[in-house]
Amino acid sequence: MKDYPDLSEETLVRMEDMSWFTSAQIFDDLLIVSQQETACFVWKTSEGLVVFDGIWPDAAVYDAIIQAIEAAGWDPDTLCKFVITHGHTDHTGCGKWLVDGHKVTTYLSRVDDAFWRDNPIKPDRPDTWKDFDIDCYVGEGDTIYCGDKAIQVISTPGHTPGCLSFFFPVHDRGKAHMAAILGGSTPPWTDPAGKEVQRQSIDHFVAAAREWGADVLLSTHTAFDKGLERIAYSQARLSYMPNIYVLNREDFENFCDVYKRIIL
Ligand SMILES: [Zn+2]
Repeated sequence: MKDYPDLSEETLVRMEDMSWFTSAQIFDDLLIVSQQETACFVWKTSEGLVVFDGIWPDAAVYDAIIQAIEAAGWDPDTLCKFVITHGHTDHTGCGKWLVDGHKVTTYLSRVDDAFWRDNPIKPDRPDTWKDFDIDCYVGEGDTIYCGDKAIQVISTPGHTPGCLSFFFPVHDRGKAHMAAILGGSTPPWTDPAGKEVQRQSIDHFVAAAREWGADVLLSTHTAFDKGLERIAYSQARLSYMPNIYVLNREDFENFCDVYKRIIL
């Protein structure tokens, strides 16, 4: 089997297929919601529910998130924050529906808010343009407090100029773990300087992961972690089976290494 994420033009086409979604409660306090290529996460805190990234600007994504929240027995009315890794459409996603329906507070870097506005991925498609405001600009070293929990923010530019990565605590049957989301999965392919920036950002991410003791590496793109299979496993997991998202440090760093290996 190919030991490498499978990325192609077809990947981009599949990112816009909203015909089906899948979801799972992967930690006591974390849900994953995914279509075939792109995923997002819903995190439970004492302040309310926090959504990380938003898959695609489509009402079907919002509906899938609400259904996953209800399936977990959580309350969609407690949605309070939308935290975005970077200013690409497949991450700003269904934020408009979260803002309109739940008045969530939105978070992104200042740089990527402008980047999102000025550099739409599809200039001929208004449905993919910037469609909601950012309330809070965050960057390197910032903390987003969410009641009893907090998100640590680091800056990992390269994929986009203001790309962010996040660290936040999760629990598996009561045991604490530290989850990480690397904001940008691929380098800007045609920009040699951007590739070098991406390399440095991955090193920064790995160093921060050591500092925060991260042992869970979450991906918003299923190609990188056999995401659909991990969701299926989580749906079927029995109480005596391990959590497939929990890694030791060596495996965490091996996973991060993939993000460097694809920079050619
Ligand atoms: Zn992106």
